[in-house]
Amino acid sequence: MPMNTQGRPTQPGEATQSNAATFSGNSGLDHEEALIFEIGSANKSGVDLPEIPAHTQRLGGLERRAPIGLPGLSEPETMRHYVRLSRQNYAIDSGLYPLGSCTMKHNARLNEKMARLPGFGDLHPLQPQKTVQGALILMEMLAGYLMELTGMPAVALSPKAGAHGELCGMLAIKAAHDARVAREGGAKRSVVLVPESAHGTNPATAAFMGYSVRSIPARDDGTVAVDAVQAALSPDVAAIMLTNPNTCGLFEPEVVAIAQAVHDAGAYFYCDGANFNAIVGKVRPGDLGIDAMHINLHKTFSTPHGGGGPGSGPVVLSAALAPYAPLPFVIKEAAGYRLVEDITRESGEGRQPFGRLTAFHGQMGMFVRALTYMLSHGADGMRAASEDAVLNANYIRVGLRDLFSQPFGDRPCMHEVLFDDSWLKGTGITTLDFAKAMIDEGYHPMTMYFPLVVHGAMLIEPTESESKASLDQFIGTLGALASAAKSGDAQRFTEAPRFAPRRRLDETKAAREPRLVYTSPTSP
Ligand SMILES: *Cc1c(COP(=O)(O)O)cnc(C)c1O
Repeated sequence: MPMNTQGRPTQPGEATQSNAATFSGNSGLDHEEALIFEIGSANKSGVDLPEIPAHTQRLGGLERRAPIGLPGLSEPETMRHYVRLSRQNYAIDSGLYPLGSCTMKHNARLNEKMARLPGFGDLHPLQPQKTVQGALILMEMLAGYLMELTGMPAVALSPKAGAHGELCGMLAIKAAHDARVAREGGAKRSVVLVPESAHGTNPATAAFMGYSVRSIPARDDGTVAVDAVQAALSPDVAAIMLTNPNTCGLFEPEVVAIAQAVHDAGAYFYCDGANFNAIVGKVRPGDLGIDAMHINLHKTFSTPHGGGGPGSGPVVLSAALAPYAPLPFVIKEAAGYRLVEDITRESGEGRQPFGRLTAFHGQMGMFVRALTYMLSHGADGMRAASEDAVLNANYIRVGLRDLFSQPFGDRPCMHEVLFDDSWLKGTGITTLDFAKAMIDEGYHPMTMYFPLVVHGAMLIEPTESESKASLDQFIGTLGALASAAKSGDAQRFTEAPRFAPRRRLDETKAAREPRLVYTSPTSP
């Protein structure tokens, strides 16, 4: 059998190592698929083009000498190639996505329809502003609702993801400290407090900006104690970055006291708002004493990660940080709405933007989707979505608590339920093995080994968009797997996945040494 340099067959439909149960390499009606370079050939084309007429080259001898070697396929071959590959992609539209800390919820088709309206979808960012008044009004409306839902007086719309929003909020905090030092003198602050359970982007953002990170230990119950924050506070602390609800799926009970302590120490409170889906319409972060918080539009207001992207991470800001919000921003004038891009040419009105984060105004398509979600749900619908997200997570928690183990005891969670691996002790099965066995059952694995404060963590977030029937099926399947694990059927787990197109891959090597260029097996 001809193999390429990676040891993969070079013809479609030849049995591969991982899927040798059939002669063809296909299984059921799912097809094995080779690389497009392996099934196409350079001398084939899907279109019939006329011969190029005789001409003289004008490239000064720089023209290509050897053929480019692109694979040629007919249209049906091309269609089949990409459709087969697409069937190997798991998506929120094909099944439950239990990943925790990364809300994957249904993205209503209405959102897509609105985002594709030519008046929004076909705009160019350099169009004269008087021709895009509707888009500017939409941004203004979205900004208004985000401020209303969070109880915060300002918002920067342009950040393009949660992590980008963290950078935005922390740059505003840094600008506020710099302005204070310029005004009153005093030392620069160089430390950012980050609890142990934080998402990796939090310490990464702080470190990227040159801050040193001081870690705050979690309590036995998975939350942060105000005493621990107090003990870590000092005059060189610029901010705390706290996630609420936190990545253990718990609401921080001392969040108000923590905000007070941080402010008393002259520092600011950055809240990672990625878990806002649990509290929209229930809690306004501004009421908790937060100074800056990013909102992942792609987690809270549908358009999930993996649902086609891109992301969008607007940042709401307190009155203390509002003057430092980045450019650009929308203002309303007598002549209409205007995107202000250059403060030096403006009156300023007390604004001192720290700069700008993006070339243009942000992710327009995401703004349209998020506003569509808000308007179609209404205030009551958004509140109901949060309540159902929490209810669904607790339904799974209670459905599995007799088989799985909960690291912080048997108590209610917010939008995601956290289990650890102590229930697997003695079975020879790890969290990873269990996750691989879920793939065989047709489920995308939950978030594994995060948060780091829990051994062998399994973090499950069903979101509000799953039905009771879907949750029951999930609980039934995971329960059956757990029973199999406890009854000594280790092979089912250690050899999983048995039915996936590929089995266990070296994921670290794939990430560290990606092979992005195709080398033909026949080339030297
Ligand atoms: C997803 C997430 C982030 C980062 O958001 P991105 O949009 O992926 O950059 C930060 N913190 C938490 C808790 C998250 O879940």
